[in-house]
Amino acid sequence: MTFVGYLKCTGCAQRFDFPVDSQYSYTDLLEHWCDAPSPWPLRIMPMEVRPVWCLRCDGPAFVECLPARQQLLDIAALRRLPSQQRPAGMLYHCDDGDFLWLAQHCLQRSAPPRCLSCGDSYWIALEARETGMRHESCWGSPIEYHCLYFVPGTPSQSNWWGRALYDVNGVFCGMYWELHCQTMQTMPMLFGFDRGSGFAGVWRACLTTLLETGHAAALAQLQTQAPDTKGEHALLQACLMMLGGERYPLREDGNATLAEAHTGWRRAAAAGNALGAWNLAQWHSSAPLQSGAKKVHARYWQKRANALGLHLALA
Ligand SMILES: [Zn+2]
Ligand SMILES: [Zn+2]
Repeated sequence: MTFVGYLKCTGCAQRFDFPVDSQYSYTDLLEHWCDAPSPWPLRIMPMEVRPVWCLRCDGPAFVECLPARQQLLDIAALRRLPSQQRPAGMLYHCDDGDFLWLAQHCLQRSAPPRCLSCGDSYWIALEARETGMRHESCWGSPIEYHCLYFVPGTPSQSNWWGRALYDVNGVFCGMYWELHCQTMQTMPMLFGFDRGSGFAGVWRACLTTLLETGHAAALAQLQTQAPDTKGEHALLQACLMMLGGERYPLREDGNATLAEAHTGWRRAAAAGNALGAWNLAQWHSSAPLQSGAKKVHARYWQKRANALGLHLALA
């Protein structure tokens, strides 16, 4: 999706902005996060979304756009054409396994489309400039929708650096990042959450703070919001430090940051958290600051993470 738009009150000219445009995807990440090796590669499939006014967020948001049964059947029929003759769109061109996986889950899905910011299903569709909404704090002046640019589907260039990941029921479950560091190469990183752990919301809020305010504020927020249970706090902290390290190149206080990340990595591995171990190992093996011995350790943990069933299917 490529989207540029906003809502604006016609009385006071207050503007209501959409969340930062990112790429939203469905994934089977949580099915890979187990002790048994997984026989299939990780799936990350771009999601179709639409702009709405979310009643719980009380502002502009994006919701899932689920294809209907008939639409899926039509797409399945058109997929038999040679690829040059098929319409544009991810579902017409993705591989058969991915299409079947997504189609099957759409057909079985009972949950309504969710807001991708708060997970709620109460929202007002935005289709025309007249939205029917009023700005209460200025005597009910109408709020108008301005859509400057909206191309549904997947951007042709995949230079997006962050993707929010949702399970097939539209529940937020992780993030995929591509870090482009000055001192390191491009590095894929995955962060996933156990649905029951309660960390997903905290972690997401911290990432948002990291983007909007900075590394120190995100760490402070993590300290206050996440209790240190089962070493997960240390892991999240180490991950935040890595992401912070990208924005604040590791130079003067690099040693402390590395030590913290290393602690988190060991705890993740000891707790059998393949995803955490994979992320941290990835970082350790890519950082030019690392000595040869640590790189060997990193490769060991990367192997172990892979053996636990986590495979990256991303180019
Ligand atoms: Zn107003
Ligand atoms: Zn919402």
